[in-house]
Amino acid sequence: MTHVFPRHTAKQPPIAAGGEGCYLFDADGKRYLDASGGAAVSCLGHGDREVIDAIKGQLDRLAFAHTGFFTSEPAEKLADLLIENAPEGLDRVYLVSGGSEATEAAIKLARQYFVEKGEPGRGRLIARRQSYHGNTIGALSAGGNEWRRRQFGPLLLDVSHIDPCYEYRLRADDEGPEEYGRRAADALEEELLRVGPETVMAFMAEPVVGATAGAVPPAPGYFKWIREICDTYGILLILDEVMCGMGRTGTLFACEQDGVAPDILCIAKGLGAGYQPIGAMLCSGRIYAAIEEGSGFFQHGHTYIGHPTAAAAGHAVVSAILNRGLVGRCAEQGDKLRAALEDRFGQHAHVGDIRGRGLFLGLELVSDRGTKAPFDPERRIAARIKSAAFDAGLICYPMSGTIDGKLGDHVLLAPPFIIEDAQIGELVDKLETAIDGALAE
Ligand code: PMP
Repeated sequence: MTHVFPRHTAKQPPIAAGGEGCYLFDADGKRYLDASGGAAVSCLGHGDREVIDAIKGQLDRLAFAHTGFFTSEPAEKLADLLIENAPEGLDRVYLVSGGSEATEAAIKLARQYFVEKGEPGRGRLIARRQSYHGNTIGALSAGGNEWRRRQFGPLLLDVSHIDPCYEYRLRADDEGPEEYGRRAADALEEELLRVGPETVMAFMAEPVVGATAGAVPPAPGYFKWIREICDTYGILLILDEVMCGMGRTGTLFACEQDGVAPDILCIAKGLGAGYQPIGAMLCSGRIYAAIEEGSGFFQHGHTYIGHPTAAAAGHAVVSAILNRGLVGRCAEQGDKLRAALEDRFGQHAHVGDIRGRGLFLGLELVSDRGTKAPFDPERRIAARIKSAAFDAGLICYPMSGTIDGKLGDHVLLAPPFIIEDAQIGELVDKLETAIDGALAE
């Protein structure tokens, strides 16, 4: 078997052969605790009967019908359920097949909204340096991860990138958290004034940053200021909850904890929990109305939008999250995991920061806790942790991110919401083995 790529390891990876609850098994029978759901995907764990039966039932009835001709019961039911539980003002749902499709659609919807409104001069997007919004050209342009963008420069859109809200590295010693939140948000206003607010259509951000910096939550008040600035200058707020949404942070949507509602909200990963590829873009009634009253048609679309089988999976997943009280469980188990991490790594010489919300937690590795100096990138600490954890039977999501030229090593943890107390203990033990093993190399 040598024809499949990507390969993330030099040697042939093991074959994933089965999954049950919080564990995955390879073809040799080795067991792995899935502490990151791959990349924050498997929120219900593996082998969930209700979800599997919902998918099978839908396949027996109808696998696919094209949205050019039909809507479907699962798509309608999923959209209703999402809107019933969505932040205020969001009342339309566009179902896609993953996170990049959701953010890409959001960028195009924002643009079309202003064209329909008769403000065609608004075409600029503002986003943040330490962020990931996906790998398609628009989404990659919005993201600020230098490593992912590097070789595609000539293909990317001209997006403005402001500093992220990143207390551990960017808050001054003599600055309070809210004061910093305000200063970080002010960067948006400064950029708006620099480029001319009348040229800007939207600001896009992840409420809790995932794939570039390991579960970085916003400073208190940050998103309230951001919302206010967006409203003052008439630009849209697009929140990307592809990773942090669907209960993972201890509320169904992460932005609930910041007391803000976006104009456009992107979700994926936990929406399908890995059972089907699905994502969604939710938008406000006013955006939808502008399009409906204008050309009447969102000028976008992929063959598999509104896919009935994927929507049936999404509906079963969201129902499970809500009906089984998994959002609350996520908050509770998140507190326990965080306490266990603080207990084990709180004084660790090379763990500079432990952060996050709910079961979306991150550790930042540093060579010196006092100066917060990162490790020499040549040491590839994050990659070594991933590999040592995998050897020890633990799947976690280590990553390297760059901010202001400094490379940082982070580990993201995003286990299934059903994680038991004993498995939290197993996770922390194995993570310690992996971190200490990687540092000793
Ligand atoms: N946005 C965020 C915040 C993400 O974390 C990701 C994936 N890591 C994406 C978008 C892209 O999603 P996908 O990989 O499903 O295209």
